[in-house]
Amino acid sequence: MDLKSNLGLIDEKEKKMNHIYSIQNQKKYYLGEYRERIIVALKVDQLLEGDLYPEIIAAMDNPKAKYLKMRRDIGLTFLKPYIKEAERKNFRYEIIDGLSYLGDIGLVVVTDESLDNEDEELVIRDMNQDFLDVGLGPEYSKNQGKHVCNKCHLKVEDKLPDYIEKFKRLTILDKLLGVNCPVCKDRKKMGGK
Ligand SMILES: [Zn+2]
Repeated sequence: MDLKSNLGLIDEKEKKMNHIYSIQNQKKYYLGEYRERIIVALKVDQLLEGDLYPEIIAAMDNPKAKYLKMRRDIGLTFLKPYIKEAERKNFRYEIIDGLSYLGDIGLVVVTDESLDNEDEELVIRDMNQDFLDVGLGPEYSKNQGKHVCNKCHLKVEDKLPDYIEKFKRLTILDKLLGVNCPVCKDRKKMGGK
């Protein structure tokens, strides 16, 4: 064997080693699963927000989906909504010790086949991201579906018209009953004006 093909062989071997190494690392990142078997994922922060991500519920209905895996150290309080859904759907779930994993993934929905997802973003877009992108704080995203004052309503209409349907104006009855705008209230609580 000449030197050149020998070097080529070493190169191949190194590539293979690197590949194995990166797959092992991937598994540490995706709670012990191969990336190619992940349908969707959530980060720890997204679980701690306490909002239920409908994408996860939908993923459990995906015929390819086999089980749901979550990190125990997040705390049962925050995992409970997903556990409840899984139980309701009779969908297998596992709660694992997160200590031996890298990164900030907190929940994955897994299949047992290889998906063609190499170029896909597996982590679901943050629910609040649309709001944050236009400079509306969390006091808006968390009060969707509620009645808000005219000023807050106008702000949504102005900056995030796609979401205007999710906010109603305070009614006269609300006002008579002394209901305050929850967005304004939260803004004050968070130290804003
Ligand atoms: Zn308001």
